Amino acid sequence: MEERDARTDEELRGRRERLVGDLAGLQDFTPGSFQEERLACGKPGCHCAQGGDQRHGPYRSVHRYRSGKTVKKAVPAHLADEFRARCARWDAFQATVGEIADINAELSARDLERRSRPGPAARVAAGEKGGSRGRTSSG
Ligand SMILES: [Zn+2]
Repeated sequence: MEERDARTDEELRGRRERLVGDLAGLQDFTPGSFQEERLACGKPGCHCAQGGDQRHGPYRSVHRYRSGKTVKKAVPAHLADEFRARCARWDAFQATVGEIADINAELSARDLERRSRPGPAARVAAGEKGGSRGRTSSG
């Protein structure tokens, strides 16, 4: 059995309204993941061969997976904080849209349940079919 949301329709719609409002504040995002890495150049005798903080960098970039490949954009040090925050907004934007989708899935499931049930007219018709037809017309 699928786990159902205990909130009322009204509560779910209220939450959805707030989430949709939140999206406005998250719209200035950079799609992708912010990466920071240190690299070894491979030259013999270079300090980077010691590994760790001795490697070159850090190099910062935004990675975005598109059409089967990863597009990588370098981010200069002075823009690192800004683009780290922009990528975080992308994560938050997706999480918010995901929650809206979950709410709409729940509301849609409830709507289908309600509206797929036979209505009063259908129940009366079913009752008539099963009922006795012992009406006599004696004349
Ligand atoms: Zn090196």
